Amino acid sequence: MSGTSEGPTPAADLNRAVITHSDLDAPPCAEPLPYRSVFAAAPLAMAVVDPEGLVVSANATFGALLGTPAEKLAGSVAADLMELTSDARSWHSYREVLGGRQARLRCTRRLKHPEGHSVWAQVTVVPLPGEGRGVLLSVSDITTRRELQARLRHLQMHDPVTRLPNRTLFFERLTAALDAESYERGGTGRIGLCYLGLDGFKAVNDTHGHRIGDRLLTAVADRLTRCADEAGYARANTPLVARLGGDEFALLVEHSTGTEQLADLAESVLTALQGPFDLSGRRLSVSASIGVVERHAAGTTPTALMQAADTTLYWAKADGKSRWTLFDPERNAHRITRQALASTLRPAIERDEFTLEYQPLVGMADGTLSGVEALVRWNHPQFGTLTPNRFIGLAEEDGSIVQLGRWVLRTACRQARRWQLDHPDEPPIFVSVNVAVRQVWDSDLVTDVAESLADTGLAPHLLQLELTESAVMGSAGRPLQALQALSDMGVRIAIDDFGTGYSNLAYLSRLPVNVLKLDGSFVRGFQYEERDADRPSPADEVIVEAMIQLAHRLGLTVTAECVETSAQASRLRGIGCDTGQGWLYSRPVPPDRISELLGSPGVRTDVAGTP
Ligand code: C2E
Ligand code: MG
Ligand code: MG
Repeated sequence: MSGTSEGPTPAADLNRAVITHSDLDAPPCAEPLPYRSVFAAAPLAMAVVDPEGLVVSANATFGALLGTPAEKLAGSVAADLMELTSDARSWHSYREVLGGRQARLRCTRRLKHPEGHSVWAQVTVVPLPGEGRGVLLSVSDITTRRELQARLRHLQMHDPVTRLPNRTLFFERLTAALDAESYERGGTGRIGLCYLGLDGFKAVNDTHGHRIGDRLLTAVADRLTRCADEAGYARANTPLVARLGGDEFALLVEHSTGTEQLADLAESVLTALQGPFDLSGRRLSVSASIGVVERHAAGTTPTALMQAADTTLYWAKADGKSRWTLFDPERNAHRITRQALASTLRPAIERDEFTLEYQPLVGMADGTLSGVEALVRWNHPQFGTLTPNRFIGLAEEDGSIVQLGRWVLRTACRQARRWQLDHPDEPPIFVSVNVAVRQVWDSDLVTDVAESLADTGLAPHLLQLELTESAVMGSAGRPLQALQALSDMGVRIAIDDFGTGYSNLAYLSRLPVNVLKLDGSFVRGFQYEERDADRPSPADEVIVEAMIQLAHRLGLTVTAECVETSAQASRLRGIGCDTGQGWLYSRPVPPDRISELLGSPGVRTDVAGTP
């Protein structure tokens, strides 16, 4: 028999050796002697326990494990020695084994040694053969293994640079905190997170090297830990500080009391990081951006919380860095819509989800309809009708503006030609089409325009293209050639939103430009009625008047955007503005409405739609 074996072996050996309860209970000279001495000297801690749960006999190893001489253990309650009563499941199983109704119990216990240290014990309880013989309790000391495991776990769960909990441990804690059982047990049922990124950390690494970079991270970690400790001291709940990777840290607040608590924490972190860091003689300063999320634990997942935190950190950086920003569901919804829109733009063009509305351009002198501006709308199946400011930027970013712009151009030309054919007795109206910068750079605009005109039969002088000042400013090479080619073709070029950019008329005059569209922000200042002879003109008006005069001298005509009131219209007329566009005349309308206007006898301001 081998006394060192674990598990069921001691029981099996004892079985074969027929050690009985009374054998072990008997005086030392009783038979069979070899087995008794093997039991006594075995390196595995063992004790025989009677059916009442009292220790009958324990070996020396058992005594050593508990720090009590083996002979003093006889009569002790075995369950107390092994702390088997501390959890209900083990306690139940133990009694089942004692009563002979269960074959085995195995559990792990952390025992307190009288010398003060802890002993991790793996306890096995098996019945001794024969009815009512009691059980054999064997105990392996697994302290070393446990400690090694704990050390390994610590290494796996901590960041070697800052010694803070790492991403793995952070997510373990977060997951546990969001577990329903945990927050339903008590506390506030809320959770908060400060997700922090250092501003410009990459530059520190690049200029000072990784060693200094690492020192900075460690110093930051220390300050964060101090903030968390102070917050914990005030609230009796210390936030967990973790390094999530790179220059990103997190402070997790379980059972948070509301956004205010998180705001205070974020504020204290920013303050703590304000002072410079002394890193082996080098003084470095660093700021941080923090995304703050605070919400009910119920219904939140670690992924959702981290996504919200990530987005909010991004906002904090985008809003100018060195600040904390609170998660804003509305801003997030906007972001999600942006993403949803971006991903469906291209297919939407193929699915024909775009339409054009047309806004009248009216001669200021006589109120006649001279042209229309084509304005694109997206009839989104989910979000309803969207105006261009929701998607033109996205389309420019991902390049789908080229395809969309081509569609707009063709549709607008076809429509203008349609009006002309439907109203042969009226002077034809021109159509003005917005062109994005990328269309000039990334596509063959000249060919697109030529084809659209040829295919629809629209005369080139009935097409106007609107480009923004910034799009044509500094243009040389390809864009300038394109503008020149279009102009040579007879197509008119207008500068859209004039006055918001460089407003360099002298420069513009050298380009093949025909029309200036004065930005709405200028027109907004023209609110009052006829000029009062005694009152000096406001600076705005003097500037605009001079601008119009100069434009005329350079051979350009001027269109005012956003004319909303008749007062504005009369002031603009007074200073020589040629054409007006705005709600005073008409909102952008579907093509049929323009047909109606063309059909009506003389288009006047009073018939051109309702503001
Ligand atoms: P924009 O070219 O300056 O067009 C004028 C914008 O002002 C239009 O907005 C129009 O509805 C609005 N507006 C007109 N009259 C008034 C008024 O009296 N008061 C006020 N407050 N607003 C007025 P919309 O349709 O939302 O278009 C916005 C911008 O989107 C356009 O500004 C243009 O830059 C761009 N856009 C529109 N359609 C296209 C297109 O087909 N291609 C490209 N690349 N851009 C387009
Ligand atoms: Mg425009
Ligand atoms: Mg404009």
